[in-house]
Amino acid sequence: MNPTLEFSPERMREIGYRVVDCLVEHLATLPTQPVGAKADPAVLIPALQEPAPEQGAEFETVLAQLQRDIFPNSMHVNHPRFLAYVPGPGNFIGAMADTLISGYNIFAGTWISGSGPAAIELAVLNWLRDACGLPESAGGLFVSGGSLANLTALAVARHVTLDDRLDGACVYFSDQAHSSLEKALRLIGIPPAHFRKLPSDAAWRLPVAELAARVAEDRAAGLRPFCVIASAGTTNTGAVDPLVELSRFCREHNLWFHVDGAYGASSAISSRGRELLQGLELADSLSLDPHKWLFQPFEIGCVLVRDRSHLRETFRILPEYLKDTQLHSAEFNFTDYGPQLTRSFRALKLWMSIKVFGMASFRVAVERGFQLGEFTEARLRSMPGWEIVSPAQMAVVCFRHSSLDDAAHLRLVQAFLEDGFALITSTVLRGRTVLRTCTINPRTTEADIEAALNRLDGLVRRSGSAQY
Ligand SMILES: *Cc1c(COP(=O)(O)O)cnc(C)c1O
Repeated sequence: MNPTLEFSPERMREIGYRVVDCLVEHLATLPTQPVGAKADPAVLIPALQEPAPEQGAEFETVLAQLQRDIFPNSMHVNHPRFLAYVPGPGNFIGAMADTLISGYNIFAGTWISGSGPAAIELAVLNWLRDACGLPESAGGLFVSGGSLANLTALAVARHVTLDDRLDGACVYFSDQAHSSLEKALRLIGIPPAHFRKLPSDAAWRLPVAELAARVAEDRAAGLRPFCVIASAGTTNTGAVDPLVELSRFCREHNLWFHVDGAYGASSAISSRGRELLQGLELADSLSLDPHKWLFQPFEIGCVLVRDRSHLRETFRILPEYLKDTQLHSAEFNFTDYGPQLTRSFRALKLWMSIKVFGMASFRVAVERGFQLGEFTEARLRSMPGWEIVSPAQMAVVCFRHSSLDDAAHLRLVQAFLEDGFALITSTVLRGRTVLRTCTINPRTTEADIEAALNRLDGLVRRSGSAQY
């Protein structure tokens, strides 16, 4: 028995070294490993169903079980040939920072309990605010990811523009907007009948003229348009909505302008990204995911609001047992700016990795994503039979093989999943299944992409269009 749940300093060191060895072994051999595997639920789920063990086991035994049965049965989203969905490249300093965050177990909700951490969070938020060109009035906080960032921002939009009265409230976004937005809108109580999902234009962007027509129609019908949501890099194609025009429209029509940059807004740290994201600085609120294109381990998302006092007006509630947190520096209590009371010191991993690698390295790492996307497009254009459906935008390319139908493209994804050498997945654009690559991992090489595309091409040619 070990009812204090602790170890001697020597044993803690041993355990820590084992963990680091396990991670380093994994990360150093990642390119030669499969991209991951998916277990048979009929085998793996029963294998782990046991009564909670009454007696403890050696740490090494438990770690060995993880290394044998659990870690290999996952997709290595940081693998250089994982070109599916949105890769999670991560970085080692971020992972080590996560360990420090847990070890110190800092409560990053109030200034009283974590003033040092709050100062770091404020500093790193300002780096992001400045990269996005938002004014000094802007502020925000770190949350678990883009979904919670969108939820937090839309709750502010509701509070500020609707005064929390929901009747007739209408919200506008394109058919390319991320599903987390609809989830967030449902959670804040907007009836789905009032979601105005407008068909995107030929470049997969939210069309301003159609938006204007729909807003006018809804106003004429006595409804209450309150918010337009733009995407700064859609997940499907990397398309960036016309942010400048949308912002102008929103200002003229007194609508909240939320920009979902969970995927793409991080690229604003690079000159390429900043150029493509003109108008980002005009957002009333903005979501940005450092656990995507800023190379952080999950979970870290960021929400920035143009006037940070709006966050506080939306979220601040003061129970009796927190009154003393207001004695000093109450304006730096992050718990008053978002939905969480107890919250971890997520800011540390982003701060620490930028401090260690430097912003110049981060910038080049982001640029690399753009270049690899263009490389992928160029390679596909040189391969007979393959056609580009959506060109490289924000490191995303969508494509099809001219001889294959939708089902055959899905079978290609299945073949990739079974093979494990690389992973490319599909999406649907205007009802057609297409393959899609996302190349934001700075450790992906041109050779990785060539090898993945050659394997894809080989699958098609070997089996002939009869099967694929
Ligand atoms: C990934 C993504 C989200 C959701 O972010 P999570 O971090 O997965 O919660 C929202 N919007 C866009 C555009 C995304 O790419």
